[in-house]
Amino acid sequence: MLLSKFLSGEINKLEPVYATDVGYRYPIVEKIVGDPKAVNDFLKQLADVGILKRELYDRTIYCPDCGSAKTSIHYNCPYCKSFDVEKSSLTEHVQCGYIDTEQHFRLGDKLICPRCNKELTRPDVDFRKAGIWCVCNSCSKSFDIPVPSHFCRDCKLTFTFEDASYTDVYRYTLNPEVGRDASAGWIMVNQIRQFLEGKGYKVETPGILKGKSGTSHLFDLTASRRDAVGETLVIDIAAAAEDEVTEQPVIALFAKIYDVSPGCACLIAVPKISENGERMAKLYNIILFETRDPNEVISSLKIVCTKAVG
Ligand SMILES: [Zn+2]
Ligand SMILES: [Zn+2]
Ligand SMILES: [Zn+2]
Repeated sequence: MLLSKFLSGEINKLEPVYATDVGYRYPIVEKIVGDPKAVNDFLKQLADVGILKRELYDRTIYCPDCGSAKTSIHYNCPYCKSFDVEKSSLTEHVQCGYIDTEQHFRLGDKLICPRCNKELTRPDVDFRKAGIWCVCNSCSKSFDIPVPSHFCRDCKLTFTFEDASYTDVYRYTLNPEVGRDASAGWIMVNQIRQFLEGKGYKVETPGILKGKSGTSHLFDLTASRRDAVGETLVIDIAAAAEDEVTEQPVIALFAKIYDVSPGCACLIAVPKISENGERMAKLYNIILFETRDPNEVISSLKIVCTKAVG
């Protein structure tokens, strides 16, 4: 389902969405997978087997105690650890080299050098920024580099980087090689879908049907009549890894139709099927198409559908 969203262009890049309470999420994938907690593992598996490509998008800090993503950064005094730290910028009088915080240069609305009393008017010529300077409001000490820590806005814990759980967040794209293979099947499915919808069928790609056993089965396409209580048509597509499709997809389709009992079951083997596969398809009453061309399937379906579903 996720793959078809990539192939149809509905998803181009899968980027996480930030929610202040739980951190990054992938809402589209959550809808498909169901359990939000399973989403990261699901995406990782798809990346591990090479279906998706991932790249680092962000890193997030979670509270080590309560797991909340609602954290802020505190910049602390290195001497007394207080975060009540005043930040100011340093200004340098270029001509005489005197450096101090900006407020020491301020005289009304003018900037006057406290050392040589000259007025500074031209930025980057008379004066320039010379870094930052911090003053601690608790212990009154000054320093240039504060020490950062994190504050959990949920459980109020203050924790250091050392204790933080620091997690990678990824952006995903479809591996273009997988895209080429899958898009051939996808084009096939879509053309058949358009034809069947034109004939008044309600079509799902992929479609899920519940069997007698209570198990739900996934087919590449399911179609049923909107107007009458027609019987269902199911289609699976199997593309050959080598030069021909084995009997495996025939067996898989048979197991599903045995439980679901559709009016008509088709297997499209791209480009052709093994002898054994053909024999088994006949045995199981599966209508077999051996082709790369969706139009060939459609012209046969015109006959098949009329017979099987009416
Ligand atoms: Zn201090
Ligand atoms: Zn000066
Ligand atoms: Zn917390």
